[in-house]
Amino acid sequence: MDVLLIGSGGREHALAWKLARSPDLGKLFAAPGNPGIAAVAECVALDPADHDAVIAFCREKGIGFVVVGPEVPLVAGLADALTDASIPVFGPSAAAARLEGSKGFTKDLCTLQNIPTARYQRFTESDAAKDYIQREGAPIVVKADGLAAGKGVTVAATIEEALAAIDDCFASALAGAGIEVVVEECMEGPEASLFCLCDGERAILFGTAEDHKRAYDGDKGPNTGGMGAYSPSYLMTPEMTERAMAEIVRPTLAGMRAHGAPFRGVLYAGLMLTKDGPKLIEYNVRFGDPECQVLMMRLESDLLPVLFAAATGSLDGVSLDWSNEPAVTVVLASKGYPGAYEKNTPIRSLPDVGEGEMIFHAGTSLIHGELVANGGRVLNVTARAANVAQAVEKAYALVDRVEWSEGFCRRDIAHRARH
Ligand code: ATP
Repeated sequence: MDVLLIGSGGREHALAWKLARSPDLGKLFAAPGNPGIAAVAECVALDPADHDAVIAFCREKGIGFVVVGPEVPLVAGLADALTDASIPVFGPSAAAARLEGSKGFTKDLCTLQNIPTARYQRFTESDAAKDYIQREGAPIVVKADGLAAGKGVTVAATIEEALAAIDDCFASALAGAGIEVVVEECMEGPEASLFCLCDGERAILFGTAEDHKRAYDGDKGPNTGGMGAYSPSYLMTPEMTERAMAEIVRPTLAGMRAHGAPFRGVLYAGLMLTKDGPKLIEYNVRFGDPECQVLMMRLESDLLPVLFAAATGSLDGVSLDWSNEPAVTVVLASKGYPGAYEKNTPIRSLPDVGEGEMIFHAGTSLIHGELVANGGRVLNVTARAANVAQAVEKAYALVDRVEWSEGFCRRDIAHRARH
């Protein structure tokens, strides 16, 4: 089967790397892809926002399956357009992608389905939101409703901070049609991520992970898209995982079916493990980046048929094989990220990788045949080994052999799991 993969980041390189190992794969195309993906796929300059162009390309090339990596095309309805054109696609419809695209929608679903999550209220007017904050007190959490690439959330320690966050949300949407915020209770506990493949009816566990959001060692500095991850999460014991499946994931799928928007694709639950049990922080409707990189490094099953089964409603009886070995990924980012950074800095050389090692490309490009960094998060150095400490050692040994003077990384990835 010929496959088109949509996306260009480290997550998509990991998906491409794994898809390329499938005996069922004919030819792999990626739109737009990146220099790492180009090693296993033909990269094509297709705009995923142009649904007609994507469909025309699929028809011309006889594509049998489309895998969508990022959330933006899903929220914009790319999966619906492909489904209407009878092209199988991995990724939810726009209606189902609201689980990520609208925090208010997800919170209301949690209420309807009795899913444990932070107590909340939705607001479309700043004054009403501010009154609520004054009544509730701090700490309290303020979230802009739509997709904000991780930048729409303020965990406010004081009432003043929360009120300022409300002003920011409403000011940034000055043109402002339909701005909405969710104000919610501040939960306490460690965080972990749970991934499930869903076919509308069923959800099967697709692994657990923990990530590192802050830019610098010791979880200091500004928030980022993610500076590293490891899998599995040792917090997600089999009991905790089953509880999250039973209390959070399955009721969500039932709710989405009742809503007329069955969820097909990967459901990524951000969980807080509170003293009262796992609670939902948020949903994403695609693989995490960089969590996908560690999941792909640990998955032993063939990825292509299971994604196809999820897309076509046939996960019944599908089971997955995983390596028992943990995997770690370290993100190499451009100095200055997540603030301003220099673009097109040369990556002079990348080390060769051995078994259980991979360097996934995220923000790289080629200029006159030379590899350069053209994004904030640039390379995802990933390793698997008998235990976390060894996987960390392997990953950093590779990091130290990357010749890129303008890069930096955290040195403490997986510190929570090293002992
Ligand atoms: P991303 O998709 O990048 O994870 P996002 O903008 O969708 O971010 P959330 O995941 O909802 O935002 O929140 C980001 C972080 O804020 C969480 O990982 C968590 O640390 C914190 N957070 C969110 N909601 C709460 C809450 N109710 N109580 C305590 N902390 C919270």
